Amino acid sequence: MEKAPVFKRILLKLSGEALMGDDSYGINRATIERIVSEVKEVVDLGVQVAVVIGGGNIFRGVAPGAAGMDRATADYMGMLATVMNALALQDAFRHINVVSRVQSALTIEQVAEPYIRGKAMRYLEEGKVVIFAAGTGNPFFTTDTAAALRGMEMNVDIVLKATKVDGVYTDDPKKNPDAVRYQKITFDEAIHKNLKVMDATALTLCRDQKLSINVFSIFKTGGLKRVVLGDDEGTLVHC
Ligand code: UDP
Repeated sequence: MEKAPVFKRILLKLSGEALMGDDSYGINRATIERIVSEVKEVVDLGVQVAVVIGGGNIFRGVAPGAAGMDRATADYMGMLATVMNALALQDAFRHINVVSRVQSALTIEQVAEPYIRGKAMRYLEEGKVVIFAAGTGNPFFTTDTAAALRGMEMNVDIVLKATKVDGVYTDDPKKNPDAVRYQKITFDEAIHKNLKVMDATALTLCRDQKLSINVFSIFKTGGLKRVVLGDDEGTLVHC
């Protein structure tokens, strides 16, 4: 008999870069198809899935391309980039018959529903994937912080931060062959050691609300499913 999921409801944070694959910009079709099929596996297990999508593959408010721009303007552009990614994700979900809804923190009614907490909760209960776009809707924040915020609002059991590396390491594993993966680490340790889990605002929000984060690789086939089944996958950041 197959194992049962240990989480009922999850918030998956996907960075914009995750959609790029090996490209240097934009959305890679094969990559996005692979990611949605990984998500489908856990939806099929009955897990309720909310997604916060980043925009770094298209625009980042603090990037050189935004240099000289008013920061708030650049950040609004970044948030709009996440809306494009959200639409691409929804489209990819539709192709594999996973029903999803996009809710945006910036109102662009022709394109996406506005963020309405109660409605998002209902979609999750109905088994629909909810994709949160436009971050928090505020400049000077990140989609990591949006993931912490929406995770708390949706009462999820855990935030799953999908990265290219399969967890949090003592050092950069690409540069240091002796770097070791943490199986578990506390929020205080992660903040104190300045480990690259999520940005500090997101980390402290999760710590204060006692919402654990699991950092894992979305590029390891079946990784998301293993996290959801409670296997030793990635790094658990806890209180
Ligand atoms: N952004 C913002 N407020 C938010 C979320 C995002 O201003 O609440 C902007 C910010 O400019 C950021 C960009 O959107 O650089 C893309 O988001 P992020 O860098 O978090 O995307 P990721 O790194 O996950 O791809």
